[in-house]
Amino acid sequence: MTYEVHHMIDGKIVEGKSGRFGDIYNPSVGEVAGKVALASKSEVEEAIAVAEAAFPEWSATSVVTRSRIIARFKELLYEHMDELAELVSKEHGKVFSDAKGSVQRGIEVVEFACGIPHALKGEFSDNVASGIDVYSMRKPLGVCAGISPFNFPAMIPLWMAPMAIACGNTFVMKPSEKDPSCPMRIAELFKEAGLPDGVLNVVNGDKEAVDTLLTDPRVKAVSFVGSTPIAQYVYATATAHGKRCQAMGGAKNHMIVMPDADLDLVSDALVGAAYGSAGERCMAISVAVAVGNVGDELAKMLKPRVEALKIGPSMDPASEMGPLVTREHLNKVKGYVDLAVEEGAELLVDGRAFKDYKQGYENGFFMGGCLIDKVTPDMKSYKDEIFGPTLQIIRADDFESAAALPTKHEYGNGTSIFTQNGRAAREYADKVEVGMVGINVPIPVPVSFYTFGGWKNSAFGDHNTMGMAAVNFYTRTKTVTSRWPTVATGAEFDIPTLK
Ligand code: NAD
Repeated sequence: MTYEVHHMIDGKIVEGKSGRFGDIYNPSVGEVAGKVALASKSEVEEAIAVAEAAFPEWSATSVVTRSRIIARFKELLYEHMDELAELVSKEHGKVFSDAKGSVQRGIEVVEFACGIPHALKGEFSDNVASGIDVYSMRKPLGVCAGISPFNFPAMIPLWMAPMAIACGNTFVMKPSEKDPSCPMRIAELFKEAGLPDGVLNVVNGDKEAVDTLLTDPRVKAVSFVGSTPIAQYVYATATAHGKRCQAMGGAKNHMIVMPDADLDLVSDALVGAAYGSAGERCMAISVAVAVGNVGDELAKMLKPRVEALKIGPSMDPASEMGPLVTREHLNKVKGYVDLAVEEGAELLVDGRAFKDYKQGYENGFFMGGCLIDKVTPDMKSYKDEIFGPTLQIIRADDFESAAALPTKHEYGNGTSIFTQNGRAAREYADKVEVGMVGINVPIPVPVSFYTFGGWKNSAFGDHNTMGMAAVNFYTRTKTVTSRWPTVATGAEFDIPTLK
């Protein structure tokens, strides 16, 4: 029994008319579980038209009313947390407890959005010159669009739509076609919370839907999260069409392990950060940089732990790591492990030939964790993002040469340093050319009231996401200079200056 996922336009589930469908897998089982409608240009245009029509009333709705709807939405998300996490887990393949954590991280953005009356406050200066007051306001942009990746089908749509909508915009969401059920359910809950029809629309689809959102003049801003080549394309296309655009891309996150670090703490942190969610996290640690002589000891400690990872169906509470999202992605990750071996790295744990399938899950997209030692910076398997359950170990003679690695890498999303030396940690956080840094914290995803964003090829555009960066992205300022004179004083031909 397979299911179908369509679109939500103007508050209603609308059947796809394009006749095109994508497959939705249950990666634990390895079979097609459902079909997702892939929207045509005209279907996306219909959603944009609906969002444009809803904008005048929604943007004029008081900010307190908007925040109350968001607060009700937040309550519904908590009430439906298990249901949402199950949808994530079944279509993505990450284990249920991790899926629940990702829903929680999304809800935290909604909690921030509840405070939108405070965040939208403008500035006011009275009497900047005699009898002249100046104030600024934050105004919404109009129709905004969101395009999200497969790996966080709850959290990333929740980074986007609630903040845009709280700011007074209307929204068209285009989730990943690989796991669309959770974002559709989230949109239904938003409607149940009292969001007027047309304010949030969800179109499912592929490149055709994305290209329509990037080029339609009625869309004023595009938020994108996904791989770097597509982020670059989305940024170039959206901005060429006059839109504001934030586009987050891929990653290769390094953890610097200093000689004074507690290796028990480090191996706990690395096993979770490299193999959690099967490494399909943009903040996963995929490279451990062993400084000085810690490399051999670290590799020795990690090897049995990687071999002992409990790998199984995503909804099995005993599983620590589930399958990869699709067979195609599984083969891509295995191909990178082959490449690392060809390039001369030492494969300490080979998860490619995984055999420990649970009964009934023999076709699942599983692989074991891979631990790859003696990696060097010239290897392609080091330069590229692998996005799977692989951890590469690089040796560095000293702190300086270790710290240079993430700085020189094309990606700059997240990094961490494990040390007991405060001076080294401070220096690292200060100098490293990476957007998010953890000190003895393996996955430094900022909390929702800070901003999230990488550097270099991990993000395109001037605006980060979350926190006040999201408020800045989804609003434009208007500055008003006012005075109420009582008598005419004659024309002034010189530019007015402060007196
Ligand atoms: P992806 O780039 O393949 O897809 C992302 C979105 O773009 C999807 O909605 C997809 O439908 C659309 N898309 C795909 N190909 C397209 C094309 N040719 N033209 C137009 N649109 C297209 O990414 P993914 O595989 O879904 O997600 C994994 C990637 O996302 C990884 O690289 C990961 O690092 C990255 N990611 C980054 C962050 C971050 O915050 N920096 C967060 C999560 C994931």
